[in-house]
Amino acid sequence: MGNSIFNINLPKNEPIKSYAPGSPEKAALKKRIEELKNQVLEIPLIIGGKEIKTGNMADCVIPHDHQKVIGRYHKAGKKEVEMAIDAALKARESWAAMDWTERAAIFLKAGDLLASPYWRNTLNAATMLAQSKNAFQAEIDSACELIDFFKFNAYYAQQIYGEQPPHSPDGQWNKLEYRPLEGFVFAVSPFNFTSIAGNLPTSPALMGNVVLMKPASSAVYTGYWLMKLFQAAGVPDGVINFVPGSGSQVGNPVMNSPHFAGIHFTGSTPVFQSMWRIVGENIAKYKSYPRIVGETGGKDFIFVHKSADFKEVGTAMIRGAFEYQGQKCSAASRAYVPVSMWNKLQKFLLAEIKTLKMGPPEDFTNFVNAVIDKNAFDSITSYINFAKKAKNAKIIAGGNYDDSKGYFIKPTVIVTTDPKFKTMEEEIFGPVLTIYVYPTAKYKETLHICNETSVYALTGAIFAKDREAVIQADKILVNAAGNFYINDKPTGAVVGQQPFGGARASGTNDKAGSYLNLIRWTSPRTIKENFIPPTDYRYPFLEEE
Ligand code: NAD
Repeated sequence: MGNSIFNINLPKNEPIKSYAPGSPEKAALKKRIEELKNQVLEIPLIIGGKEIKTGNMADCVIPHDHQKVIGRYHKAGKKEVEMAIDAALKARESWAAMDWTERAAIFLKAGDLLASPYWRNTLNAATMLAQSKNAFQAEIDSACELIDFFKFNAYYAQQIYGEQPPHSPDGQWNKLEYRPLEGFVFAVSPFNFTSIAGNLPTSPALMGNVVLMKPASSAVYTGYWLMKLFQAAGVPDGVINFVPGSGSQVGNPVMNSPHFAGIHFTGSTPVFQSMWRIVGENIAKYKSYPRIVGETGGKDFIFVHKSADFKEVGTAMIRGAFEYQGQKCSAASRAYVPVSMWNKLQKFLLAEIKTLKMGPPEDFTNFVNAVIDKNAFDSITSYINFAKKAKNAKIIAGGNYDDSKGYFIKPTVIVTTDPKFKTMEEEIFGPVLTIYVYPTAKYKETLHICNETSVYALTGAIFAKDREAVIQADKILVNAAGNFYINDKPTGAVVGQQPFGGARASGTNDKAGSYLNLIRWTSPRTIKENFIPPTDYRYPFLEEE
């Protein structure tokens, strides 16, 4: 099974390009944006390396200019899902048998290709257009984070394959063989991160699994470019099969297959729970118990102690809540502020928010762009409207929206007197931050409220200069976040530095971009070899005195 010893050095994180005015990377990226914008890409399914066109098509549009079509994709149905399962199973034997270092070479190459100008500009431009991300948000996602996933995963795979039983007594030899799962893995990605859409199929594939890859409907465009990148890096036909389409029309036949061996999911909590239910109902059909790995929603907090610096807090709020329009699972969406700091912080926050420019990402001076689609726009604005009517809440910034050309929503701050107000509890997934101002002396009590308010436990931050206050928050909030930050915004986890994932309703906490995730895609076999097998069954104790 290829447990070769091969030294993959600890990678360095991919440096972030600045795209500052006059920089060569800015000019090259702008050029690629124009090229992609001026064509309509026809996107087929890719099954067993072959392009499949079903004729059942949908448009890929630009969220900040929703009448502009940049792609038209073919949708998979039951028949194509079955074709993809067959193609994956056919590719499985040789892929599983391939030495892991050869598989690692493919994904290390994918990382190097993505770091090179053509692929970097293409994936960044595609993400900016299809998902309405500004240049910096695209760069840290579709370039840097995905390159890091490829490189660090190869390094972590090496650690896993090297992990062997510590002892083999004389006369025998013990080995652990890290087999891939027996069947195929279903990789289902969200719209918001190109890096996640790239990591979900490739981390199981690196460990020798074959995969069906289903991108989110609003991110099929970048999903297709990812698939082309995998092919360019040398992923063999059938190892990763690209099957865009409606969640249930693709998902149901996939999860009905006896060869279904695992889900690698990132997306919303209700969708993950519905998939888990289907898996439960089908459990007796499967050849093995499927691995269910899912990172889901969040209601991420910033908790402020009176000893914190209000400018640090305000800046973390703006970046944490409004970058990528709050459409990050880790986005700060509720905050707890002591009344002693509130006036200063409010003034600072409102002045800073006034300077945030909103518009298309092709104009690099825009900090805020559009939300992903009509459904997201309607859902986010319904929360804003709810707050507008509520007696115990007040909108102090933003609250306006306009979807005439693109799905634009102004960064919005709600202040509530009810710590359990709807927008303190539910995931909104948009540029909306709700703040509860607490009595300064009730620090500990309010920490408990924070811990108990939401079903989620993804990310959270404590801001304090007082170390005792930090320790107290750290203890009381121990189960409230899988990624906990001290004096930093709760977004922007980096592969190799802060392995990412949450618990409670936020997911199975298998920490993307770490050995903890990769280990889920293996089914170890223990092999004991006896060099000198006994030839007599009698033990000494059986002998007569
Ligand atoms: P979503 O749940 O709407 O969709 C996710 C994926 O599931 C899509 O590919 C969708 O087509 C698919 N899907 C939907 N119904 C399905 C079904 N019945 N069977 C199979 N697949 C189905 O999520 P989204 O709107 O794309 O992304 C936003 C959500 O993702 C937010 O809740 C956010 O918090 C979460 N998210 C979490 C993390 C994390 O690491 N915890 C990271 C990014 C996003």
